[in-house]
Amino acid sequence: AAKDRGGQTYMFYDQLHPEQLPERHMLESDLRKALDRGELHLNYQPIVDVEGVVTAAEVLLRWSHPERGFVSPSKFIPLAEESGLIIPIGEWVLRTACLQHLEWTSKQELPHFKLSVNVSLRQFLNHDFLTSVDRILEQTGFNPESLILEITEGYVHKHVEQAIFVLKQLDKRGIQIAVDDFGTGYSSLSRLKTLPIHILKIDRSFVRHLQSDSTNVSIVQAVIQMGQSMNLKVMAEGVETVEELMQLQALGCTQIQGYLITPPLPAKEFVAQYHQFAMMDHILGAARPGG
Ligand code: C2E
Ligand code: MG
Ligand code: MG
Ligand code: MG
Repeated sequence: AAKDRGGQTYMFYDQLHPEQLPERHMLESDLRKALDRGELHLNYQPIVDVEGVVTAAEVLLRWSHPERGFVSPSKFIPLAEESGLIIPIGEWVLRTACLQHLEWTSKQELPHFKLSVNVSLRQFLNHDFLTSVDRILEQTGFNPESLILEITEGYVHKHVEQAIFVLKQLDKRGIQIAVDDFGTGYSSLSRLKTLPIHILKIDRSFVRHLQSDSTNVSIVQAVIQMGQSMNLKVMAEGVETVEELMQLQALGCTQIQGYLITPPLPAKEFVAQYHQFAMMDHILGAARPGG
């Protein structure tokens, strides 16, 4: 019933006991100040292909609360969505990530890879979204063809017309769209076919226990086949073990992301460790047929 009323923001309420409400308000008012106080920062997690090349980095938001310490995005992102704070926060994330990426690539500190930024449906469906993306691209000079926006399906089926319009506009700019947490939402084949999307990110719940869970194997297989027939790139997120990697590769998945390579890292550590991500080549290579 919760999702009928408009998505995970309401689910969040439902999960809270009444005595937790003041707590929620405190956290929300703290989040309101977090941007100005410089408590938000970004981590980066590489997405690597079978050759060991970093094709993209996913940008993941972090909040260090002055008293509580690290607050998980799964806790504060729903709050930000519900309160509307996700709009200014999302703009900050995109601008900051674009500037960081430009710094890396313009000084040729790092080779080229794409930037993959999460966008909440609340942001994506906001009337101002395209304007704000255009403004950030223009102000930073970021190449839209280096940008991937990750969107979860959520309640997008309730706003199909608007979603299609925005997706087409982003596509015109050369921005790629990834469907995040793929397999957990409402996509139907027939709808996906009509949308300008480029990437499917298989949700990590399907990547788990691939050795023992034949249902997961079938799901991953189906997504990969679907991706191939629709000319979409398929990535697997949350890859933690060599076994999972080898299974995924055997099934034809060519791009992976997960703790096996590295957890998300602060910018400095991302740069420092960048060349080790590619050193994963020995594992990736070992998993390649004939490798
Ligand atoms: P997501 O977009 O699906 O991001 C992937 C999540 O999986 C991240 O959690 C990442 O740290 C985690 N992860 C990566 N590799 C592994 C692995 O091998 N094993 C496991 N167990 N987890 C792994 P995180 O950073 O806690 O973010 C949670 C969610 O919060 C994200 O899920 C995304 O939906 C949202 N989020 C994070 N940053 C932003 C943001 O800047 N904007 C928006 N709108 N949402 C964000
Ligand atoms: Mg994501
Ligand atoms: Mg996401
Ligand atoms: Mg995901």
